[in-house]
Amino acid sequence: MVCVTSPLDLAGWRHVYSGKVRDLYVPADGAEGRMLVVASDRVSAFDHVLSPGIPGKGTLLTTLSLWWFDRLAGADGGRGIPSHLAPAKVLTNGADGVANTRDDLQSLIPDAVAGRAMVVRSLDMQPIECVVRGYLTGSGWAEYRESATVCGIPLPEGLSNGDRLPEPIFTPAYKAPLGEHDENISFEQTVELVGAARAEELRALSLEIYGRAARTAETRGLILADTKFEFGVDENGVMTLADEVLTSDSSRYWDAAAWQAGTTPDERMASFDKQIVRDWLAANWDRRGTPPELPVEIVERTAARYRELLERLTGD
Ligand code: ATP
Ligand code: MG
Repeated sequence: MVCVTSPLDLAGWRHVYSGKVRDLYVPADGAEGRMLVVASDRVSAFDHVLSPGIPGKGTLLTTLSLWWFDRLAGADGGRGIPSHLAPAKVLTNGADGVANTRDDLQSLIPDAVAGRAMVVRSLDMQPIECVVRGYLTGSGWAEYRESATVCGIPLPEGLSNGDRLPEPIFTPAYKAPLGEHDENISFEQTVELVGAARAEELRALSLEIYGRAARTAETRGLILADTKFEFGVDENGVMTLADEVLTSDSSRYWDAAAWQAGTTPDERMASFDKQIVRDWLAANWDRRGTPPELPVEIVERTAARYRELLERLTGD
């Protein structure tokens, strides 16, 4: 799959990479340690970037990520989780004379991408998608039906799609290069990839963050069914939360009241994420060749659900 994007010409920044959803830029003057992450309106499903995009999605994802980064920095009453938004030491010593605080850093965002970009510390990214599941669905449900396990973790018999798990589980995936499919792996394979200490750290951090976020979501009548984190190691060796966090792209959110009352999987899993897109694509595409254009109605419903999630979580 080729990811077609035309990077923007942003004063002070040089384009270096485009993922499925985001475009990365580094300082044009060669300054090290920071990056500009710009969220686009592109939407991906089954590892393909679809057309058209979802209008406003880049801004909604960025707003939601920033809100969660704040909560996790301590606004929710918990301890501060190290994140790539906080300025690194190298940027706080004032040596570069520009960016000393998080606000200083965000002031480096060009107007052309205001609202959908973050200035972050560039990290040594771990090749693991740190997935946590509190509920059974998606690829977890698919594996469970085959083997009664998810990523090698044995689960009780008789669970249905959308059921709550006895406790949240860490189900990592190997982060495949662009265009390839991320692969669910066991904890042992994670240890082989990053070493035992780092693997333990990733698991503990992921479960901690999921637990905090799920409790926050619950107070807003939402279920955080599952989510994916990415971490990187900073220049001091600290495992640091990176990428986007707890957005409707990286997570499944369901309406708690519908889940309680629902009887069919569709009713139970009334979602605020891109499940609408996944479901439409699964029903209208045999997964060969180029995916079909998304109908206007699917685009609009998805945009509305993304907006609704932001409103329910943040009260805005
Ligand atoms: P998808 O998320 O849809 O699987 P992707 O991961 O290929 O796609 P994007 O999410 O569009 O790509 O792009 C973001 C990229 O930036 C990812 O490769 C992510 O690992 C990387 N990234 C995020 N935060 C940082 C950071 N602080 N330092 C270095 N790289 C980062
Ligand atoms: Mg990503």
